[in-house]
Amino acid sequence: MEIDCTLCKKPIDKYHPEFNHLEIDDSHAIDVCPECVDKLIKWQQRTFAKLFPTKAMKERYGKI
Ligand SMILES: [Zn+2]
Repeated sequence: MEIDCTLCKKPIDKYHPEFNHLEIDDSHAIDVCPECVDKLIKWQQRTFAKLFPTKAMKERYGKI
């Protein structure tokens, strides 16, 4: 049985519930392939870098 990624719709290679299955709540769950997980992590890292600048940036520009 092949499971498709909820995001990119490609079949997930070596599907493993621990890594590829995310329960949102009782009625919602998604399956995400490693490529999309990787993209989501990178996207979050970019977002957090913008939201929480490094300590050096805070010292240069002061408290927000
Ligand atoms: Zn995907």
